[in-house]
Amino acid sequence: MVKAVNQFDVVVIGSGPGGYVGAIRCAQLGLKTAIVEKDKTLGGTCLNVGCIPSKALLESSELYEMSLHDFKNHGIDLSQVKLNLFQMMARKDKIVKELTQGISFLMKKNKIETFKGLGKIVQASAAAQSAIVEVTNDESVPIRIETKNIICATGSIPTALPFLKYDETKIVSSTGALALQEVPKQMIVVGGGVIGLELGSVWQRLGSQVTVIEYADKLCPTMDQQSIAVLKKSLEKSGMIFILQAKVTNSTVKGSQVEIEFEEIKTGQVKNLKADVVMVSTGRKPFSQGLGLDEIGVQKDKLGRVLVDGHFQTNIPGVYAIGDLIPGPMLAHKAEEEGVAVAEILSGQAGHVNYPTVPSVIYTHPEVASVGLTEEEATAKGYKLAVGTFPFMANGRAKALGTHEGMVKIIADKASDKILGGHIVGPRAGDLIHEIVVAMEFGGSSEDLARSFHAHPTLNEVVREAALAVDRRARQM
Ligand code: FAD
Ligand code: NAD
Repeated sequence: MVKAVNQFDVVVIGSGPGGYVGAIRCAQLGLKTAIVEKDKTLGGTCLNVGCIPSKALLESSELYEMSLHDFKNHGIDLSQVKLNLFQMMARKDKIVKELTQGISFLMKKNKIETFKGLGKIVQASAAAQSAIVEVTNDESVPIRIETKNIICATGSIPTALPFLKYDETKIVSSTGALALQEVPKQMIVVGGGVIGLELGSVWQRLGSQVTVIEYADKLCPTMDQQSIAVLKKSLEKSGMIFILQAKVTNSTVKGSQVEIEFEEIKTGQVKNLKADVVMVSTGRKPFSQGLGLDEIGVQKDKLGRVLVDGHFQTNIPGVYAIGDLIPGPMLAHKAEEEGVAVAEILSGQAGHVNYPTVPSVIYTHPEVASVGLTEEEATAKGYKLAVGTFPFMANGRAKALGTHEGMVKIIADKASDKILGGHIVGPRAGDLIHEIVVAMEFGGSSEDLARSFHAHPTLNEVVREAALAVDRRARQM
């Protein structure tokens, strides 16, 4: 038996940042909207097992590390600092619970009907402007929802290596690494990208000996490499070990430990390493299992990403896709903006995402943040560059904070002075980058940033000094 439900203008499948933000914008624009989610709570990867729990643990672990090593310098003597991992995890879980419940509240407030279960597109027909999504869960008979449009926002899942099967206790994905019950003595991180560095930092700070094994010859290759060099040096100082250009080839569980075998790519030498926990963070892949895309003929690329046109429409009219499911950086704020844009397009407005200004942030210590082109990318595009850099070392506020490693770099087009990119490594880089994002959104120049007021003493003054440095006018503060 199947239960039929009234016609909607839009059914959004997936309630991550792309899906829930898109659904809210659809509802704000007067479209009758439903959202379908297979997991127990709304919010997707980001709220449940991604951005939010990782940042909660990064914050707690940084405070723990500071209380061990830095507070004394401030004249605060905490003679007996003790880690309570259970409380740290409980705090993280509470933050996640509050935020995911908040999404349920937002759905109700915006009169978006929520269907719990796996959503499958069983019919899509542009001519009749009618499609059907079937929702299946354990509790009730399948529900058939009629809709004019469907937005697929089913996100992504971790990639897996055949010889490192996740058990989420000894061999973990990011999800398992966010919920470990005790601090591993040794931890191996396979993949030195964003997740590897962020979650590797969490456990390193809490007492693990973390070794990162990375296939490439550099960490985070899409980020500004001068910034990444500062981060790598700082992580090495904290005790993290990096093995670059190495390929993990096998693993064996030996008692309470996992032994991995890896090959040094340059020398061909095979080595072994043991740890209590191995985290695999070798990237994520789009998730569309059970969504019915193949059955209705939706086109994907070789990586399984759903192909869309400039209006986020797939090759099947009326079926749209956004977020981690489609090409582009796998970032929550990118998914959100695509959700807003597709809602506006469906309402007859000119929804648009300005991809060159999508910022990315690595929430390590120091933080690394980036927007726009790197020097290499800008040069490859044929620009002649004027580059200004300024260190946090000379900034009064950074000195007062006691964290002054790193710098701001502004890359401008030499001919027009238009800002092409900005890269920051240092305190609160993830917050500071937005000044450059906004300037770029308005087509701003380094002169615009340099002439804008910056309150003293703030970290933002370093952004201004870097802008002044584009024209060799920086001053020492
Ligand atoms: P998702 O958030 O993945 O949501 C998809 C939802 O669809 C899920 O809830 C899933 O259950 C549901 N779903 C799938 N199939 C179906 C179906 N057939 N029927 C019903 N429901 C379905 N990004 C940042 O910008 N900043 C960060 O700091 C950051 N930190 C991260 C940390 C970690 C550890 C991880 C893993 C990711 C992090 N990300 C971060 C990436 C970010 O989480 C994703 O880019 C973002 O969640 C993508 O949003 P989305 O809406 O496309 O998909
Ligand atoms: P990633 O793409 O950032 O890094 C994966 C790394 O693994 C790469 O450096 C790659 O060279 C390496 N690698 C791949 N295969 C390997 C192998 N067999 N052996 C050793 N190294 C290997 O992916 P991630 O860190 O898993 O993160 C996934 C996605 O989640 C990213 O796209 C990122 O955008 C998103 N994310 C964002 C944030 C943030 O914005 N702060 C935080 C976490 C995750």
